[in-house]
Amino acid sequence: MRYISTRGGITPIPFSEAVMMGLANDGGLLLPEKLPPATSDEIAAWRQLDYPDLAVAVLSRFIDDIPHVDLERLVKKSYAGFQHPEVTPIVKHGECHILELFHGPTLAFKDVALQLLGNIFEYLLAKSGGRMNIIGATSGDTGSAAIYGVRGKERINIFILHPQGRVSPIQERQMTTVLDDNVYNIAVQGTFDDGQAIVKKLFGDLTFKEKHQLGAINSINWARIVAQVVYYVYAALKLTGEGRPGQVDFAVPTGNFGDIFAGFVARRLIPEQIGQLILATNENNLLTRFVQAGDYSVSSVRPTSSPSMDIQVASNFERYLYYLNDQDARRTSRDMEQFAATGSLQFDPARLARIQQDFVSRSADEPATKATIRDFHQAHDYLLDPHTAVGVYAGLACRRADIPLVCLATAHPAKFGEAVEAAIGRPPELPPALAALENLESRCRVLPAEELVIKDFVAQHAL
Ligand SMILES: *Cc1c(COP(=O)(O)O)cnc(C)c1O
Repeated sequence: MRYISTRGGITPIPFSEAVMMGLANDGGLLLPEKLPPATSDEIAAWRQLDYPDLAVAVLSRFIDDIPHVDLERLVKKSYAGFQHPEVTPIVKHGECHILELFHGPTLAFKDVALQLLGNIFEYLLAKSGGRMNIIGATSGDTGSAAIYGVRGKERINIFILHPQGRVSPIQERQMTTVLDDNVYNIAVQGTFDDGQAIVKKLFGDLTFKEKHQLGAINSINWARIVAQVVYYVYAALKLTGEGRPGQVDFAVPTGNFGDIFAGFVARRLIPEQIGQLILATNENNLLTRFVQAGDYSVSSVRPTSSPSMDIQVASNFERYLYYLNDQDARRTSRDMEQFAATGSLQFDPARLARIQQDFVSRSADEPATKATIRDFHQAHDYLLDPHTAVGVYAGLACRRADIPLVCLATAHPAKFGEAVEAAIGRPPELPPALAALENLESRCRVLPAEELVIKDFVAQHAL
């Protein structure tokens, strides 16, 4: 399998190069050249597999330049640390099959992809004799999942900038209690946007980027998408088949469009078993306007109780746009140029009809999110985190008779204790992994939000 760019500007490359490239060199996003559906024999075989073995089987369709035994070892190592034997178990409550994606080390779904990505990076760097300095800014959740993905790994250092005093105490401790030598937590005296702007500048300095082999770990990396395809296939095959329904629908709390795009790829793989993809947004509902009205126009970001979805410009959107444009890279580049210039794209009725075949969408405002947490808890004695609640709200609004509804649970409720407490009147119980953080030693460097200071720090501590 080779990979191309949505903007058509690179010659096709194998997976191992795609994963190291991250963003395509022409500014586009990388995608597999082809997405053929699985055969019925393959699907029958996949139904027999546990999660790690299914992951190996699904990933093998996209990765043909890592020997099978090695891929198997990387996958098993990635999921051995999950706290549930099924890795991503499904629990049924009322009309929702909740797909729990939060049993990884930082209790958020990003672990599913980042645990694997860290192992793939380490493996490829060992082979090439290279090194990598990962730099990222976080508003809370991604940082810890990225740190846990690469802690203690050879040939990799990671620098994560978080806004000092502006992430929740749990999120801060999840990051700063990781004491491995290759992990550098930097509390920036500024906002998340300040940190993000500095990171962008470091990547924009091509000499600096090359000299220190800067690497990114954000959700535009194809390896993250493909790791997420697995749990859609896993859930769909578990709930369908002989004597059971033919297909399932998925409700997906959406921010950067990475997770729901993985669902789109999964549906290309097993089109009969996956029906509706329900795109759930919070009050930052640009993508809902896109699906409902063909209007993709940026406005300002509003802070909500589901901060990992407080996003306007979804970094993975371009991947879908490429398919919407019938894999026409020229047209996709033109659209993206227009979007960069005007902050807006409008889709004509023909394209809108296509969009509405691919997705349905609902937005949950703050009162609806809170009510969903409260009502779900009352009805089922089960706690949803605010991101998951946005998905459940949209899922229930769009559910179809006799088709199982799978709602992706993207974070453990205890990570967002304040929102849960506001909904049910008491804080959620802390799982042991979070309760233990309290007493752990922590390490963090406080630095001013100045490009040169951060740059200097990275240069001094880079591999
Ligand atoms: C990142 C994140 C999301 C959004 O996922 P995208 O792939 O960005 O759409 C939803 N919920 C939680 C808890 C997250 O951390």
